Amino acid sequence: GARIGILGGGQLGRMLSIAAAQLGYSCHIYAPESDSIAAEVSAEFTSAPWHTEGALRAFARKCDVITYEFENVPVGPLAAIPAEKLAPGPLALEVAQDRLAEKRFAQELGGQPAPYAPVDTRDDLLAAFDRFGPGILKTRREGYDGKGQWRLSSREEAEALNQPNRGLIYEGLVAFEAEFSVILVRGRDGEIRFWDSAHNSHESGILARSVLPAPAVITQQVGDARKLAAAVAEKLGYIGVLTLEFFATADGPIFNEMAPRVHNSGHWSIEGAVTSQFENHIRAICGLPLGDTSLTGDAVEMLNLIGTDGAEAAQYLSDADAHLHFYGKGDARPGRKMGHVTYVHHKARG
Ligand code: ATP
Ligand code: MG
Ligand code: MG
Repeated sequence: GARIGILGGGQLGRMLSIAAAQLGYSCHIYAPESDSIAAEVSAEFTSAPWHTEGALRAFARKCDVITYEFENVPVGPLAAIPAEKLAPGPLALEVAQDRLAEKRFAQELGGQPAPYAPVDTRDDLLAAFDRFGPGILKTRREGYDGKGQWRLSSREEAEALNQPNRGLIYEGLVAFEAEFSVILVRGRDGEIRFWDSAHNSHESGILARSVLPAPAVITQQVGDARKLAAAVAEKLGYIGVLTLEFFATADGPIFNEMAPRVHNSGHWSIEGAVTSQFENHIRAICGLPLGDTSLTGDAVEMLNLIGTDGAEAAQYLSDADAHLHFYGKGDARPGRKMGHVTYVHHKARG
């Protein structure tokens, strides 16, 4: 079968590889790390820095189509990959890897972000605090799982902060009722399908659980959120799975951020949807027909295993309803996503 190249070597790449294998494809992982949990389940692994043009060229020659599971791949070096092989294209990466760019992009398409201001200096931060009050200072680039963020509740805290001195954004704190994400897949022919939006809960800035069906406060706002997500996908000429995160508020859905890839809040779809986000991403980039995204049960719940070691995770094996996914990362450091568990519930019949 054809060879799929994946830029990035984490659990998303691992789950993409597994889905690809089911459809008769094999994967070649490209990542800067010397160890990769995605490479463990893939046919080939290139361990080289992102900026190694020769290695990228050789990788591209061996792959029929190339995708990414990590949105912080530097865009410049990707010029070494023939444009027609890359899906989604580099524009999606460029926009999604900069919080300022993604907010502006969403706004141009009618999206409503949290109040924000770019921050490069201490004066910028204090001015932003004076405008928006309590909020979160974030690095524009490379943050994930709440890393690279400082929550500020008072002006004194803002004054005392020893912040990096450029490339930041300050966001006013959104008083949200709930969080959700819109996950869609767009095929090469432009067809778009959405998964149901789960209710996402975060702990310490890290996704802890996703639950379906979501409460009415979310389902009432999913329509507007989907319109924005579809507009983003169209504008980018997007191919594959795209995720937009939202806050459900009294003023409607507030756009938080986007990820040009499969997403943690869609892991439930492996057992909880007829076609998972991973399989549909592979289908889309390979030009296959998209699969049905509907739920396989009446309710679905995904729990992240954060900092959970193998022995602790193994306890889910004695729970008949639990689908355990363990990523094989080794060291169970606090805050590290080690795996997840999915439950699919069926209403009693009768
Ligand atoms: P991810 O792992 O999702 O990429 P991230 O590091 O990019 O995370 P964000 O999504 O920006 O971080 O923020 C993480 C969480 O912090 C959000 O899901 C939300 O719970 C909270 N949060 C972020 N920004 C705001 C805001 N402006 N107002 C209120 N809460 C916020
Ligand atoms: Mg993010
Ligand atoms: Mg986020």
